[in-house]
Amino acid sequence: MNYKRIPMDHDKKIALVAHDNKKRDLLEWAKFNRDLLAHHQIYATGTTGKILEKELNLKVTKLKSGPLGGDQQIGAKIVENKIDFLIFFWDPLEPQPHDPDVKALLRMAVVWNIPIANNRASADFMISSPSMVNPYERLVPDY
Ligand code: PGA
Repeated sequence: MNYKRIPMDHDKKIALVAHDNKKRDLLEWAKFNRDLLAHHQIYATGTTGKILEKELNLKVTKLKSGPLGGDQQIGAKIVENKIDFLIFFWDPLEPQPHDPDVKALLRMAVVWNIPIANNRASADFMISSPSMVNPYERLVPDY
């Protein structure tokens, strides 16, 4: 398989998504990292974005709500290289009406080799990685 390199800017395009039972977790995490997040471009699904904007006074590009297609919009933006970092606190304990969309989003994130955190500990490790501030090139399939 051939690969191409996609450089990641210092200022990253970060998508934040949380299922309903995980919104409090994501909000707490984002509050703790608010100043750091403010240096990046933040995208979010509709309801998650509204909460983050209101509580953190953070500029957020809000997409549709997840069940209405927001996850798919994020997946499409990953493909277009308009999002390069995903924090997605999905709920492993409740069925979701848009489960196929969740799976599709996670698949696109893996195909396009973007950093993904699906729980708080991973998000903590990822956001504090030296790669956040150093140049980094993602390898993605090229065919
Ligand atoms: P929401 O969508 O931010 O609009 O709640 C999240 C999701 O369910 O994927």
